[in-house]
Amino acid sequence: MKFTDMISPFTANDATLLRHLDGADIPTLIITTAFLSRDYTLLRDAWRPEIVFGIAESGMSEALEAEVRETCFQALKSFRDGAGEPPGPPTYDEMCRIANWMMGPEIEPFIPQVYEEVVVSEFDQRAPRWTKDQLAPDRDLSVAIIGAGESGILAGLRLKQAGIPFVIFEKNDEVGGTWYENHYPGCRVDCNSFFYSYALARGLWPDYYGKAEDVLDYFKEVARQHGLYEHIRFNTVVAACRWDEAAGQWNLLLQTAAGEEEFRSEILVSAVGQLNRPSLPDIPGQDDFLGPSFHSARWDHSVDLSGKKVGVIGTGASALQFIPEVAKIAEHVTVFARTPPWLLPTPLLHEAVSESMQWLLQHLPFYSMWYRVTLAFPGAKGMLDGVVVDPDFKPTEKSVSALNDAVRQVVTDWITAQAVDRPDLLDSVIPDTPIGAKRIIRDNGTWIATLKRDNVNVVRNKINAVTPVGIVCDDGGEHQLDAIVYGTGFHASQFLMPMQVIGRDGVDLHEVWDGDDARAYLGMTVPQFPNMFILYGPNTNQVVHGGSAIMWSEFSVKYLLDALRQLLSSGATAMDVKDETYWSYSRRMDEASLLRAWGFSKVSSWYKNSKGRVTQNYPFSSAELWQRTHEVDLSDYELTSGDG
Ligand code: NAP
Repeated sequence: MKFTDMISPFTANDATLLRHLDGADIPTLIITTAFLSRDYTLLRDAWRPEIVFGIAESGMSEALEAEVRETCFQALKSFRDGAGEPPGPPTYDEMCRIANWMMGPEIEPFIPQVYEEVVVSEFDQRAPRWTKDQLAPDRDLSVAIIGAGESGILAGLRLKQAGIPFVIFEKNDEVGGTWYENHYPGCRVDCNSFFYSYALARGLWPDYYGKAEDVLDYFKEVARQHGLYEHIRFNTVVAACRWDEAAGQWNLLLQTAAGEEEFRSEILVSAVGQLNRPSLPDIPGQDDFLGPSFHSARWDHSVDLSGKKVGVIGTGASALQFIPEVAKIAEHVTVFARTPPWLLPTPLLHEAVSESMQWLLQHLPFYSMWYRVTLAFPGAKGMLDGVVVDPDFKPTEKSVSALNDAVRQVVTDWITAQAVDRPDLLDSVIPDTPIGAKRIIRDNGTWIATLKRDNVNVVRNKINAVTPVGIVCDDGGEHQLDAIVYGTGFHASQFLMPMQVIGRDGVDLHEVWDGDDARAYLGMTVPQFPNMFILYGPNTNQVVHGGSAIMWSEFSVKYLLDALRQLLSSGATAMDVKDETYWSYSRRMDEASLLRAWGFSKVSSWYKNSKGRVTQNYPFSSAELWQRTHEVDLSDYELTSGDG
């Protein structure tokens, strides 16, 4: 994985520049040119992008695009030939100007967080502006991070910048977390990679939606470049964590091939993720099946599915990625589809980044940064408005507001147009649930094209049993199979399982949470578990309506670092979130969740726990989240002072 330069010298000749401008992303080109030439009159009304399903598109005729290119070419030439000042990072005012042009005045609350996406050389607003040595050189403060996936890597990287000692414990033998474990055919990220990546390490991605191997490679490269490997203990399972009141430390029980050992640290950070422990349904007869069977997240590459009759259970995000690949080689694929998902039209889903786009990302100064920003503005705003329940609309199990209904209609039309020749499929591809009740899945037409193949059929009947040779449904139909793949998701609600976590006075976290009824203030802190911070904890899935998982990690890690800053500068040894803070926050989450499509709808999903409570999703905007996590408000916490 290569990274795009933060600022490259701009020396391209006219012919090269002209040639590559043909492949430019038009909104990014306009912004980059306006910024480099300091000519903001280029942000013309007629050139404003259209935001289509959260993506900024030019929306222009070919002739107008050509005019844009020519105007930008002339301005870039002048800049290259010395008319422009060497650029520094954009100012906040410049950012506001660009944001307003792109998105209109409604974007204002989101500007501060997107401004943080601007990283230029040393200019990185999320980086700590202090070090432990400056604040408390004599203080013992070390951090144990559990997990070396995307959030654990980010936490390590920022702690390193702050000069705080840390160790990352990782159960696998490599970094990457879910990207290490999921390697099923067709696996790729479902958020544009130029946004699903750290702002401080802008990858030069070969595809807009990176393939799993490239995403894994990216995380390895970031970890390597930032010297994190030497802080990671691989093949090490953290089996238990116990708060030691007398020592003011967390005591970790580690399991390695060599046996068990203990490790102590003042701060505990869980970065174990949510979507990584496979959930296999409890279907009678599963163990009697004679052929190979495996879960999507434990793909058995030794099994050759070519020429086989394959049954796939599930039509979630994983299944919709691997079924098209399996269908290309299998004799037949039977898709057991209990609840169809909504699809989100995404034309670039399988597109490689063109040579010209790659060139611009590498050679046109600030282009890669502005491209990220054009993704970040619509991404940060997301589609929350479209999933809020409007009681005056008389919400139903189909639509929860006029806007929700309008989006439903647009997507339904898009789906229906693809299946005009196969109306029998409509029942299996148009959900009965409101848009947003379950995870919306990006698609570029591949899903319906796959279901239309001669060697694919969809079964909507309930599965009754697995037999030695296939699957029997409640209509009595038996489907003969050579192999079964379970695309049945993860134990998402069982946060921090199977680790034992014991806080003050011997309190067990899983008892506090009554199994899978997890809560945490800002998704991170729990009363009686001092100095413990959870990354990607309960109610942190903002990504279901906007943003990216990495964006949430950036906010959380910044909050973690600010907590450590305050501990170091106040001399306090421990911080516990107050009971009333935790509960009032949690109540607010629960009340709002019922007024979102996913909480209103009765449909089951991994957003909800076994009691039907939404424990996954964040029901508010990313702007509100940014505001709440920007700095730690110490009045939310009880501090234990250094002298006891
Ligand atoms: P999932 O969304 O939980 O889907 C599980 C599927 O299995 C559903 O279709 C479910 O049906 C079905 N299922 C479960 N038990 C069943 C049973 N007994 N009988 C019939 N069907 C059964 O899991 P996932 O697809 O692995 O995705 C989980 C999440 O991971 C995604 O939503 C996404 O956030 C993330 N993910 C991301 C990417 C990416 O970035 N590329 C890729 C994959 C996953 P019901 O809907 O009826 O319950």
